[in-house]
Amino acid sequence: MEDFYDCIVIGSGPGGQRSALAAAKSGKRVAIIERERELGGACVHQGTIPSKTLREAALTLAKLKNSAHVFDFSLRKDIEVATLIGRMESVVNSYTKVIESDLETNGVDILKGRARIRDPQTVVLHEVDGRTKFINTQTIIIATGSRPRHPENIPVDHEHILDSDSILSILYLPESLTVLGGGVIGSEYASIFAMLGVKVTLIDREPHPLMFLDKEITSKFKNHFEANNGTYLGSRSVAKCYWDGATAVVAELEDGTEIRSEKLLVASGRLANTEGLGLDDVKLALAPRGHIKVNDQYETSMPGIYAVGDVIGRPSLASCSMEQGMRAARNSIGLSTPRTFDEVPIGIYSVPEMSGVGIDEATAIERYGAQNVVVGRCDFNQVARGQIMGIKDGLLKMVALKEPSELLGVFIVGDGATELIHIAQFSLIHKAAPKTFLENVMNFPTLAEAYRIAALDLLGWRY
Ligand SMILES: Cc1cc2nc3c(=O)[nH]c(=O)nc-3n(C[C@H](O)[C@H](O)[C@H](O)COP(=O)(O)OP(=O)(O)OC[C@H]3O[C@@H](n4cnc5c(N)ncnc54)[C@H](O)[C@@H]3O)c2cc1C
Repeated sequence: MEDFYDCIVIGSGPGGQRSALAAAKSGKRVAIIERERELGGACVHQGTIPSKTLREAALTLAKLKNSAHVFDFSLRKDIEVATLIGRMESVVNSYTKVIESDLETNGVDILKGRARIRDPQTVVLHEVDGRTKFINTQTIIIATGSRPRHPENIPVDHEHILDSDSILSILYLPESLTVLGGGVIGSEYASIFAMLGVKVTLIDREPHPLMFLDKEITSKFKNHFEANNGTYLGSRSVAKCYWDGATAVVAELEDGTEIRSEKLLVASGRLANTEGLGLDDVKLALAPRGHIKVNDQYETSMPGIYAVGDVIGRPSLASCSMEQGMRAARNSIGLSTPRTFDEVPIGIYSVPEMSGVGIDEATAIERYGAQNVVVGRCDFNQVARGQIMGIKDGLLKMVALKEPSELLGVFIVGDGATELIHIAQFSLIHKAAPKTFLENVMNFPTLAEAYRIAALDLLGWRY
């Protein structure tokens, strides 16, 4: 009995946690296997929580700097990064404890070691003391996450040339930082370090950062970044990159430009953690970029083996990994998952933050034709709360179908964007018409009022 489970979950990040909890709550005997000392995955230890803790410090410092009329404030030259993220350890520790107690309370066995799949009914557990256990199971859920990709021409040494796992281990804030990659992780870290007073150069092959987002939104982000110690070099590629052995990391671009900085961060995508999992033995189909292929039930090409989270690729968000985990577990048991999973917001914790849900203007026009699409905008300085807060780069952009009048998407940049977006999410789920925002009362003064102004703009100020 000891070594038989209904469900074995491999990996204890957000995807694994929710898979294990959902299976256990349905009365199944479940074990979760984690190879690291602590539970929580990249989300808790290298990704979401650490980066957001540094961001919080950057925002606090920015607020103090903007209060120069009240405080005589300057950042100490020898400030250590560890001091800036001083709260991180307690946040990580208490969050890890919450995860552990949640799993234990629900009867999930926590097994420590490296898991390998021998066949769809057997997982081999290589424990830290060298022992090996064979565990039988009915279902396997793979939630092994991802790790930073290191392009061949970028020799990451974790001292001068860093990745998102090592960037927060630097001792002091550098004078200058080059960031390679204008995706979510690159844009977040570039803007956070820039707000901390570091001279940041963000380089990407694409003309704009975050190409998948609405251009009006990303332009506001770029303007803010460039007004605060940042430079964006778009449509450029790095030929090679090296530490000069004395003072600087040199990034040589293909157009001959040379960028020198004290540190360099590579944020060029992530690779699925599939090595050592025994996928060759069980012959699981992989997508071209090495992610595990799944169907709409999150089942892999091998019946009884499911996969969720970063290991299956986009959107590679903690929020979605959790939802996928819950769905995979319920699907594996034959339980229904009736709730919609279409209107998933994306949150980008850059400075300023950005968020979106639904489809943007360009996609709406492509899908419905320009004559059938209407757009409304509200600059945050059009609402009292935005004025009070002194927000300069805030914008809420609403996209709707003309006839029948139906909300299609909302995109926001500025303070509160990642919270405000949930109003749009639930409006989309309930198929609200833009006039809903005019027929209901909102607190005053709030940033949420931007929905009302954007809706008015969208309806031609006639309402
Ligand atoms: C810098 C950064 C910032 C981010 N910010 C955000 C954000 O703001 N919002 C958001 O939603 N997402 C964010 N993300 C993404 C988020 O962290 C990931 O999408 C999420 O962690 C993926 O969850 P997961 O469960 O798939 O994998 P992970 O969290 O990576 O967990 C996988 C676990 O599996 C374990 N494992 C791997 N192989 C084995 C094995 N063979 N045996 C046993 N255990 C194994 C690993 O040790 C790890 O603990 C960020 C990521 C980074 C890097």
